[in-house]
Amino acid sequence: MTNIESEPRKLQSAGAASTPAFAEVAMPLHVFQTFTYRLNPALSAQAEVGARIVVPLGRKLVTGYIVGLIDELSTSLAQIDIKDAQSLVDLEPVCSPEILQLARWVAEYYACPLGEVIKAALPPGMTPSTKRASIRPKLRRFVRLVDHDEQKLTEAQSRVIKTLAEVGPTSLQSLCETADVGASTVSSLAKKRCVEIYDEAVRRDPLAHASNLKREAFTLTPAQADVLREIERQIASGSYGAFLLHGVTGSGKTEVYIRAMRNALALDRSSMMLVPEIALTPVFSHRLRAEFGDKVAIFHSSLQKGERFDEWTRVKNGDARIVIGTRSAVFAPVQNLGLIVVDEEHESSYRQQESPYYNARDTAIVRAQKESATVVLGSATPSLESFYNARHGKYTMLALPQRVGARPMAEATIIDMRNVFARHGKPRVFSDELLDAIRDTHARQEQSIILLNRRGYSRFILCRSCGETIQCPNCDVTLTYHRSERVIVCHYCNHRQAVPAVCPACGKKYIYYVGEGTEQLEEMLTQFFPALRVARIDRDTTARRKVFEKSLSDFSAGEIDTLVGTQMLAKGHDFPNVTLVGVVSVDTGLALPDFRAAERTFQLITQVAGRAGRGDRPGKVLIQTYHPYHYALRHSCAQDYEAFYNEEINYRKNHSYPPFVALASLLVHGPDLGRVRADSLEIRKQLDLANQDRKCRILGPAPAPLARLKAEHRYQLLIKSRSRKQVREIADAALKSITNLRSVNLEIDPVSIM
Ligand code: ADP
Ligand code: ZN
Repeated sequence: MTNIESEPRKLQSAGAASTPAFAEVAMPLHVFQTFTYRLNPALSAQAEVGARIVVPLGRKLVTGYIVGLIDELSTSLAQIDIKDAQSLVDLEPVCSPEILQLARWVAEYYACPLGEVIKAALPPGMTPSTKRASIRPKLRRFVRLVDHDEQKLTEAQSRVIKTLAEVGPTSLQSLCETADVGASTVSSLAKKRCVEIYDEAVRRDPLAHASNLKREAFTLTPAQADVLREIERQIASGSYGAFLLHGVTGSGKTEVYIRAMRNALALDRSSMMLVPEIALTPVFSHRLRAEFGDKVAIFHSSLQKGERFDEWTRVKNGDARIVIGTRSAVFAPVQNLGLIVVDEEHESSYRQQESPYYNARDTAIVRAQKESATVVLGSATPSLESFYNARHGKYTMLALPQRVGARPMAEATIIDMRNVFARHGKPRVFSDELLDAIRDTHARQEQSIILLNRRGYSRFILCRSCGETIQCPNCDVTLTYHRSERVIVCHYCNHRQAVPAVCPACGKKYIYYVGEGTEQLEEMLTQFFPALRVARIDRDTTARRKVFEKSLSDFSAGEIDTLVGTQMLAKGHDFPNVTLVGVVSVDTGLALPDFRAAERTFQLITQVAGRAGRGDRPGKVLIQTYHPYHYALRHSCAQDYEAFYNEEINYRKNHSYPPFVALASLLVHGPDLGRVRADSLEIRKQLDLANQDRKCRILGPAPAPLARLKAEHRYQLLIKSRSRKQVREIADAALKSITNLRSVNLEIDPVSIM
C-alpha cells in the first residue's frame, strides 16, 4: 500500500501560473485520513477542488473528492511512491467552497471522516462505486425545425414539418402523437437535415402533482408582526444573528417563517427551512409551492434519487432559492444564503444516527455564522440546550405566547391509573374518563386523537406456564406481536417470525399477549364504538405512503373520527375539528434510562396536546399515567414550559449533564462479547492515560442500556467535561489507539445514550 496520510498544505491559489501536480482526495468511507495522488498534465489542467475523481485504492478504483490541490510535496511525502489518479468525474466542483468549508467543520467537530461528510452532503447516488453509473439528469428526445432547402416530402413528413412550425420545438413523443406518425418518419427527416433531434434534460419534479393550495392572506397578529420585524431587521443587516422562537402550538410560527423567507427573497437572499419530517405534512410543502412556485426545492429521503438530484441541481444553479428539507438539506448548495429556519428545533431526528453523526440544527447555526445569515430556531418545546443558550444571550429570544385568534390552549387533565386499577381490581387500557370523552366527542361530531407510543398489537408474548418471553435472536428485546400480519417482529432489527402456536420453551399452549400497542387500541375502539370510524398512523402504516396520506386526508375531510397512533401524530398537523387528545400511556418513555427521558416526555405530551382545540371549539386533553406526580407530566399538563425548564435545568446541573458539560459517548460493538469487553477496557485505559490531569470524567465501560442489538454486543463509555476542547482531546487520543474503527462509534453531543 502506498497510501499515506497527507499533511495540511497550502492550496493552489486561483490563477497561479503553475498547474498542480498532486491532489489530496477524501474518500466516501469510514477512514479518517485523506490520500495523495499524482495528476497527469491533462488532469492537472482540469482538476478543481470540490470535484469528484476516480483513483486507485488498494486494488479497487474508488470515486473520491478532491479537497486540495498541491504543487509540491512536502519532503516527508516525496519519498513515497504515489499512485496516479485515473480520471475526473466532474469538470466543475460538485461541492462549492462554502459547502466544503462546512463539511470540514462537521468532520472536525463531530470527529468523523471528511469524505463521509461530503458524501452525506451530496444527493444520494452521486458517489457510486465506479462500476455503476452515477446519477445524472434525465434526458428526453426533442425535435426542432431547422433551416433547410425545399425538398420533396411524403405526406407524413409534411405533417411533421407542419406540426413543428405550429408548436415549436417539442418532445419526440408528443410530436409523433400530434402529427400521427412513427418515430422513423422523424428520423428520416433528421437524415435529410430538415429537423434536428437532440436530448434535453427534463425535470423530475417531486411536487408535480401538488394541488396548488390557495395562498392564504392573513393579517399578522401584533405578536407575529413583532417577531417578524426582529427577524427582518436581522436579515437586512446582512450579518449573522440567531433567534430562538418559542411559540406555543398554534401560535402561527409557520406564517412567520414563510413571510421571513419572502422577505429574504425580496432582498435577493436565499432561504432554507429544515423540518424534522416532510412526509408527515404534505400539505405544508404544497403550501410552499403555492407561495413560491418553482423557486422552492424540496429535499427529503422518501423522494426518488432522480428527483433529489434534480432538486439539488436546481438549487446549485440558482434556479431554486428556497429549500425545504430534512436533516441533510443543511448542506444544500444555496447561494447567497440569508435565512435558515430550523422548525421544531428540539427534535432528535436532526441528529444523524449513523456516521457521520452530525446534528443538523447545530450545523445550521455554524453555517449561518460562516455565511453571515440569520438563523431562527423555532419550537413550542425548545430543547433545554437552546433555551439555555437563549437565556444566556447566545441567541435572541422571541416569543409567541398565545395562540392565533386568542384561542385557548386545550385544558389538560391527568388520569391516575393507580385509581383506575384500584377501582376495577385489574389494569385497564382505557379509563372510563377517556372512553366517555371519546364517546362525547364523537356525539358532538368532533374528532379525537389517541396517542400511544408503541406500535404493534402486543408488546410481547408470555408463556403463562413457564414464564418464557420470546426474545429477538439478534437483540436484547422481546418481539412485538403484529396481529394483522400474524407475525412477531423486532422493532430494532426487523427480525420477523411466525406466531408460535405453543411455547417454544416448554411446548405448552398457554401463550399470552402482554402490553397493548396501537394496533390493539384501534381494535378495542372499534369494538367499544362500532359507529366510530378509526384509522391508525404509525410506522407500520406509514410504510405504505399512499395509505398513510389517505388516512390523513380522510381525517382532514372528516371521514374518519378518531386517529390512533404513535408520536407521528404529535407533529405539525393542523386539524381544526380535533377537540380531544387522549394519551393512553407515556410511562415506558419516562422510564427509559436516558437523561433526556423527562424532556422527551414533556415535549411529546405538549406537542400532542397542541393538536387539540386549534379551531373554534375548545380542546381537551386526557393523560393516563401511573406516575401522576412526575414533573414532566405536571408541567406539560399545565402547558408551562418555563416551569419544566427550571426544574429540569437544575437536574442537569446537579447531575452534570448538558448544557453544563460537553458529552461524548463511545460505543464498542461486535459479535464477540469477550472481544467487545476487552476492547472497551483497553479504550478506558487509553482514555485514562490521556486524562492524567483529570479534567474529564470518564464513565464505563458498562453494557449499553440496549446491551445487544442486531446480533452485536454493545458496551458504552461516556466522557464528560466542562471544557468541550478537553472532551475532544481525550476522545481523539482514544480513537488513535483503536485498530478497528468500525467497531467503535464515537458520538459528540449524543442525543440519546441508549
Ligand atoms: P404553529 O406552527 O405555531 O403551531 P401555525 O403556523 O400552524 O402554528 O398556525 C396555526 C393556525 O393559525 C393555522 O391554521 C394558520 O393558518 C393560522 N394562522 C396563522 N397566522 C394567522 C393569522 N395572522 N391570522 C389568522 N390565522 C392565522
Ligand atoms: Zn432484533
